[in-house]
Amino acid sequence: MNCPHCNVHIDKHIASRCFDAWVAVDVMGHTNIRKQEDSWEYCLYTGDCHEPYGVNCFFSTSISSAWLVVEKLGGKGVGVDKYLDENGVLYWEVGFFMKSPGRADTAPLAICRAAIKACVA
Ligand SMILES: [Zn+2]
Repeated sequence: MNCPHCNVHIDKHIASRCFDAWVAVDVMGHTNIRKQEDSWEYCLYTGDCHEPYGVNCFFSTSISSAWLVVEKLGGKGVGVDKYLDENGVLYWEVGFFMKSPGRADTAPLAICRAAIKACVA
């Protein structure tokens, strides 16, 4: 599956405001986002959104924001593990509801990848 904004595959998509916007819509259920005119990044438009899901939510880069994603999904069926790859480099693996896991070098990005996989058919 690819990002609806930049068309990058989820497993290649870097942690960014673009990814934050994807999570905001497809996981957190927000419809009120807009693209900033002066950059390719997306900002999460507070509008009628309730805190703490506004402009200060950096789901893919902040563990406190990413944990809101875990809570949104009920905290149930979530598995969080750390592994070493064949080169001895640490990576995080997160899965919700036994769906295809999200893997990344940071926990917030792994959480976001897993959440998208769990919420987007
Ligand atoms: Zn994107």
